[in-house]
Amino acid sequence: MNDTPQELERWDRDHLWHPFTPMQVYADNRPIIIEKAHGCFLVDQDGRKYLDGVSSLWCNVHGHRVEALDSAIREQLDKVAHSTLLGLGNVPAIRLARRLVELAPAGLTRVFFSDDGATAVEAALKMAVQYWQQSRRPKPGKRKFLALRGAYHGDTLGAVAVGDPELFNRPFRSLLFETIRAPQPYCYRCPFGLEPASCRVECVAELEQMVRKHADELAAVVVEPLVQGAAGMIRAPEGYLRRVREVTRQCDVLLIADEVAVGFGRTGTMFACQQEEVQPDFLCLAKGLTGGYLPLAATLTTDEVYSAFLGRPEEGKTFYHGHTYTGNPLGAAVALANLDLLPKVLERLPAKIDRFREHLQRMAQLPHVGDIRQCGLIAGIELVADKSSKQPFAASDRVGVRVCRLAMEQGVFIRPLGDVIVLMPPLAIDLALLDRLCHTVHACIAQL
Ligand SMILES: *Cc1c(COP(=O)(O)O)cnc(C)c1O
Repeated sequence: MNDTPQELERWDRDHLWHPFTPMQVYADNRPIIIEKAHGCFLVDQDGRKYLDGVSSLWCNVHGHRVEALDSAIREQLDKVAHSTLLGLGNVPAIRLARRLVELAPAGLTRVFFSDDGATAVEAALKMAVQYWQQSRRPKPGKRKFLALRGAYHGDTLGAVAVGDPELFNRPFRSLLFETIRAPQPYCYRCPFGLEPASCRVECVAELEQMVRKHADELAAVVVEPLVQGAAGMIRAPEGYLRRVREVTRQCDVLLIADEVAVGFGRTGTMFACQQEEVQPDFLCLAKGLTGGYLPLAATLTTDEVYSAFLGRPEEGKTFYHGHTYTGNPLGAAVALANLDLLPKVLERLPAKIDRFREHLQRMAQLPHVGDIRQCGLIAGIELVADKSSKQPFAASDRVGVRVCRLAMEQGVFIRPLGDVIVLMPPLAIDLALLDRLCHTVHACIAQL
């Protein structure tokens, strides 16, 4: 326990391969090593504090070291840390399944647990395909998916196949199943060349046509409701999601709502689907589910889907899929404590969202800010070399990384998506810290 900071830095460099991290650059810089945290702050081993401006990668809800969450884990630890969900129940997982069904859009009555966002999506994809083979009206030809350009659904191969091939996935293309790709509702760089004033939501009209055309082979449409996260916080126009739901219903295609990033209050409501009164056939949840404490995910679905998997074992209708730590009791216990705290946090969100909007409107005046997209406590700030022509910076300028590095020096931890600066503070952040986060980021962008 008494390793020196220098030793830890060396071992980090010598042995640890970080996710989504260009390791050569990482190894050239002095690493920041987090030792502890409290509230909205992370503290490194030199005692330097960083405001957690991206909720530890979009998952933290109430801050760090929250008494109610800490003690939920400690109390569960006195009972059992883990026991399998394969053919066996456990108390927190059962209680959590019931709570999720109560909170979720109507019709989602069955909960399948897994460990992270990618596996929550993966389970939905497999369930959808198997459903069409076993449904009361079997249509086994329906085994393809339609997803959007810019989509991100996680890094396991099925999730990668529905994600945008351009995003991170070039090396794996040969391994992926074919996915039908619809345009993305990227209003700032509209794929149809329209301006907001002339927009008739052509992008969703095109999606509707594609769903109609491919209905016989489509198992499901996969979307990130309201906001495409990793694409750069792309905010869909109002009514977009509702129209996706309408066309999928008309064409007998299932709808998978990946709310891994936007669930649990992030957009201002418990779930993003609720803002357009959409009831998907699958709801994928992870990130905020445990308040950002432990890896746990859930795939919710309907009785209609679930019942297609019933029958005598020899009929072969069982969903043979699962992970060792599925429904982990520690994770489920802290998720329950998170859900207990959420209603109060949601009540206080509107004032924070308004204040956030005011800050963002000021940032929009800065010379290199091309577009700002906000939804609840999510913001994507797209930086451009030239505002009037929307000309992007050269990739080699790494402006997103540079801005985030400046912020780090000022004690604010943020991570970009290319040239989009992401702000996604814990929902429990207070107004004073929200001001500090936005002022710092404003100043760092102004330095460009
Ligand atoms: C983060 C994310 C995932 C993947 O979740 P992991 O827990 O990282 O596997 C899937 N979908 C969306 C929309 C996400 O933002």
